[in-house]
Amino acid sequence: MIGCNCAVCSSSDPKDTRLRSSILIQSKKTTIVVDTTPDFRFQMLTHQVKQLDAILFTHPHKDHIAGLDDVRAYNLFSGQPMPVYCNALTEEAIRRDFYYAFAEKKYPGVPNLNLHKIDEKSFTIGDLTIEPILVWHLNMPVTGFRFGPFTYITDANRIDAHEKEKMKGSHTVVLNALRKQPHLSHFTLDEAVEIVQELQIPNAYFTHVSHQLGLHDDINQILPQGMQLACDGLQLHF
Ligand SMILES: [Zn+2]
Ligand SMILES: [Zn+2]
Ligand SMILES: [Zn+2]
Repeated sequence: MIGCNCAVCSSSDPKDTRLRSSILIQSKKTTIVVDTTPDFRFQMLTHQVKQLDAILFTHPHKDHIAGLDDVRAYNLFSGQPMPVYCNALTEEAIRRDFYYAFAEKKYPGVPNLNLHKIDEKSFTIGDLTIEPILVWHLNMPVTGFRFGPFTYITDANRIDAHEKEKMKGSHTVVLNALRKQPHLSHFTLDEAVEIVQELQIPNAYFTHVSHQLGLHDDINQILPQGMQLACDGLQLHF
């Protein structure tokens, strides 16, 4: 956190350096990113992501959409609009916050976006089938995504029973766990652990971790087997 001197913010362990939360999913034929954070450009440069087939959004909070302008680099090289998949609320925010990308007379070089509204129905991008999962971030609907055995859910503090059913049978889940103290719109570490145990998902990684949660290695030591904190640059292979 800017201006903070706590043990996490001054840690020399790279696992304690936390950019904003997003993931990249790659299959044989398809590469997609979930959320374009304010760190999107840096993340794509760091991991040398040369091609992106689509972007999925979880919800319209700034820490998940602010980096969208930088997709124009992908537009430049592909010559194609970037397919963007999001719920109605996120579409509204994108059209408002990036109004210039939807103007009738566009300034040269603005992002070229092709918006696709998603609801609860599964959809396909390239060779990936994606199942949306509706979760709640206080009163805001947030879209989680299931890709076969892998489920990604960020920014939630409540999941309805029938949506939990969609998570069951996952081999690996990523779930938000902000800190130990209660928060009005994010799961605490204990709440996240409880959901993983309830759904009996064998592998879990916690994301959207605040500096208030503590040092990466300290928290990992107290987590039950199969559960750990995610960290920047973490790669999982299925
Ligand atoms: Zn701090
Ligand atoms: Zn949020
Ligand atoms: Zn967030």
